[in-house]
Amino acid sequence: FREDPSFWKDHNVQVIIRIRPLSSSEISLQGNSKCVRQESCQTITWTGHPESRFTFDLVADEHVSQEDLFKVAGLPMVENCMGGYNSCMFAYGQVSFQTGSGKTHTMLGDIEGGTRRHSVNCGMTPRVFEYLFTRIQKEKDTRKDEKLRFTCKCSFLEIYNEQILDLLDPSSTNLQIREDMKKGVHVENLKEIEVTSARDVIQQLIQGAANRKVAATNMNRASSRSHSVFTCIIESKWESQGVTHHRFARLNLVDLAGSERQKSSGAEGERLKEATNINKSLSTLGLVIMNLVNISNGKSLHVPYRDSKLTFLLQDSLGGNAKTTIIANISPANWLVEYIFCVFALLFIGD
Ligand code: ADP
Ligand code: MG
Repeated sequence: FREDPSFWKDHNVQVIIRIRPLSSSEISLQGNSKCVRQESCQTITWTGHPESRFTFDLVADEHVSQEDLFKVAGLPMVENCMGGYNSCMFAYGQVSFQTGSGKTHTMLGDIEGGTRRHSVNCGMTPRVFEYLFTRIQKEKDTRKDEKLRFTCKCSFLEIYNEQILDLLDPSSTNLQIREDMKKGVHVENLKEIEVTSARDVIQQLIQGAANRKVAATNMNRASSRSHSVFTCIIESKWESQGVTHHRFARLNLVDLAGSERQKSSGAEGERLKEATNINKSLSTLGLVIMNLVNISNGKSLHVPYRDSKLTFLLQDSLGGNAKTTIIANISPANWLVEYIFCVFALLFIGD
């Protein structure tokens, strides 16, 4: 695992794979055998038949702490925003029948009781905002004569079946994306709340997560079937030589809906529509990111931002000088164990 800040230097898009440890129930079922093996800081092997090797920008195994992951992936995002550029972090993980793949652990972790800095399990988002507000204070202290001021505003939305819901004001449903010269690409009538500390941010996150659960329950669906986008707009204003300067940066933290294989899931009706929308928006995101990487390598390609709500919404935060990190969370449990759980769930729990 590389804790090397130069990791970012030449690249604006990074894909990190994070392998969680086996859970105690998995160990009691299958012992310590795993279906993935790390080969190097960038390669893993899937030990199925046939064995396959995959390469990423970085592999974070079970021994990589929340703090280490923050330093490699979160800190550069904040620094990028302090420089006036946008940053985007995506958490991806497949849907599973048993223990999840580690998305919530990675993005939120232990957030009970606000930002407990010393909790080793405290996740990426609280650490990102803790660092952001410390950096803001430091910047203000060192640039006192410029009358530097910062304003941070948060919004939190959910995209389900290509419809946008405001998680900070759940009465606002089916919001529309607009684009104009002044605000760029934005969601019309989305609630924005000013925050001045990591504690404020966490309060909004908890509120939004609770609203997300209620919305899912009301619609009789799992909340993991939607994407959620938490955005902080960081505005700074300062004076130099009698001129007032303005700078805006967006920091986006996206919790992606889990993908699933449509053919094998046997979904029909609403469930099929849902799965189709999830897979379409995930594949559009994949294509957008792939084309951006190829463009940075000198190719000229069309980037299909408008093919999904998620990429259209994040258009200004993907590509250009923006930094994008994808953390793909995976479970090392054997497929056979997954299968046993699946049959068990079908037989005894139903659906
Ligand atoms: P998801 O959000 O993808 O459904 P979770 O984040 O809830 O998955 O993770 C499932 C379980 O595994 C949780 O109990 C979580 O605490 C644990 N877990 C996930 N990743 C890690 C990790 N890197 N280290 C330790 N425990 C983890
Ligand atoms: Mg989760």
